[in-house]
Amino acid sequence: MLFTDTINQCAEVAGMLWQCGWAERNGGNLVVNITNEVDDNIRRLPPLTAPLTIGAKLEAIAGQYFYCKATGCRMRDLARKPMDNGVIIRIQPSGEEYEIVACKALQPTSELPSHLAIHNYLATAAPEKKASLHTHPTELVALSHVGELCSTERMNETLWAMIPETRLFCQKGLGFLPYAEPGSQELADGTLELLHRHDAILWEKHGVIAVGNDVMDAFDTVDILNKAAQIRCAIPSFNIKL
Ligand SMILES: [Zn+2]
Repeated sequence: MLFTDTINQCAEVAGMLWQCGWAERNGGNLVVNITNEVDDNIRRLPPLTAPLTIGAKLEAIAGQYFYCKATGCRMRDLARKPMDNGVIIRIQPSGEEYEIVACKALQPTSELPSHLAIHNYLATAAPEKKASLHTHPTELVALSHVGELCSTERMNETLWAMIPETRLFCQKGLGFLPYAEPGSQELADGTLELLHRHDAILWEKHGVIAVGNDVMDAFDTVDILNKAAQIRCAIPSFNIKL
């Protein structure tokens, strides 16, 4: 049975991302560690591809299984057909390669190496966190265009001041990463560094990446933070002292 509870939840969250307007075209991606749910049927699946290189040695996730959105696919399509728009991969024992085991030989998200680097870090630092989610929440991205807010300290001061739940449910706040090219090593390294202190990171003028116990948890973190950003955007700038 390939439709694990986690994959069903990925489909639900993908639909919510689309409804929020945070997943235009093929925007955003998600990668979830499903190793705990993998049964013998999945373990016995033969690889659909030759081993593919990750580009790093990720020993902490060697032998583990992940569900990933496929590259070029839309979240709104994944919501309806998660196994036509995502793949299950198995990390090779070396931690340097992976193989696709289900259901189709689709290419995983182009951001797979940076997501897997995050999961490699989480596997030892916070093993309860199984999901990483990247999306384009409109108001958070809008605030990252405001120069005076472009630091971790100023962004959190602003968001925490909007509504009490933000600080309550996002106690670690939002890490702010200055603009870096999508898919670049600079973006991946900066994200990993900020993950030591935050569960969500705002990529300047691009989007957010969040980690959580599951993908719904990661979504909730982004949703709470973006709610605060929405409120900030709704306040006329001449009428607020930040
Ligand atoms: Zn993006």
